[in-house]
Amino acid sequence: MDALSVVGGGIAGLALAAHLDPGRFQVTVHEQREEPPSVETSLAMWPEAQRALQKVGVLPAVRAAGSEFGGVALRDGSGNVLLRAGAPDVIGVSRVDLLRLLDAAVPASVIRAYGPVTSLPDPGPVVGADGVHSIVRRSVWGERARARLSPYLALRGIIDEPVPLDGGGEYWGRGQLFGIAPASRGRTYWYASYRSGLGPGGIDVDEALALTRARFAGRADGIDQVLTAATPGRRWRNGSGRCPIRAATGGETRCWWGTRHTA
Ligand SMILES: Cc1cc2nc3c(=O)[nH]c(=O)nc-3n(C[C@H](O)[C@H](O)[C@H](O)COP(=O)(O)OP(=O)(O)OC[C@H]3O[C@@H](n4cnc5c(N)ncnc54)[C@H](O)[C@@H]3O)c2cc1C
Repeated sequence: MDALSVVGGGIAGLALAAHLDPGRFQVTVHEQREEPPSVETSLAMWPEAQRALQKVGVLPAVRAAGSEFGGVALRDGSGNVLLRAGAPDVIGVSRVDLLRLLDAAVPASVIRAYGPVTSLPDPGPVVGADGVHSIVRRSVWGERARARLSPYLALRGIIDEPVPLDGGGEYWGRGQLFGIAPASRGRTYWYASYRSGLGPGGIDVDEALALTRARFAGRADGIDQVLTAATPGRRWRNGSGRCPIRAATGGETRCWWGTRHTA
């Protein structure tokens, strides 16, 4: 039997551990968290992702936990639709639900090692599935592979209301982005990103929300509705603005949330 270490028990690490043949591989999943995260976001499961979920047998449960996207819209900063596309097969699912279902699909033969990995584990091949701040990536490619700070603040949250009528999609303004998408159980997931003087550490969430409200006020009805409903107990922020990706936007660094596919 071949030993194989997976560093990171997130979406990729758990999906891989659930998929590998337990008759061929003795898999160890290293995960720094002992408990699944409680913070929700809505992840769009496109057909490719659904095929992978099907292979590990969790697609029906993901479908049951999630909600249908129906369609996606790309808008300008005022909400005018630039492009609209049907997305009938796309499911929005909470990260918490997705991780719970993938975790349950991992065979009992997989060894779970909890605690942060600080150097590459032995023996056998190592799969780096440890996300944006990957220690595996840095071990192989050095410090140049470290995530770089971006001046962009990112706020996200879920409100207990459906997506505002004709308000869903992504709003692209100059130097700023706002997104509104269906979340599981008929709720709405929203996110906002723009360059701010806050952070990178010690960001006050109330201050960040107030700043966001002021910045987006009156731009589009959908955004106004969402930000009115956002309350301190029901939203959070990823305040560090850490972003490893440099997009070609006039030389600026913009945070595009890694490999996200949501519109
Ligand atoms: C707000 C937001 C919205 C997004 N929306 C979408 C979407 O709609 N559709 C989509 O496809 N993608 C989306 N993405 C991107 C998606 O979340 C990532 O592509 C996905 O999470 C990557 O999965 P992963 O398993 O590689 O990494 P992660 O999900 O980041 O998992 C990494 C795991 O490794 C663990 N870990 C890290 N370092 C160590 C260490 N040193 N030792 C042990 N464990 C460690 C972490 O605790 C974590 O559990 C979104 C991302 C964000 C932030």
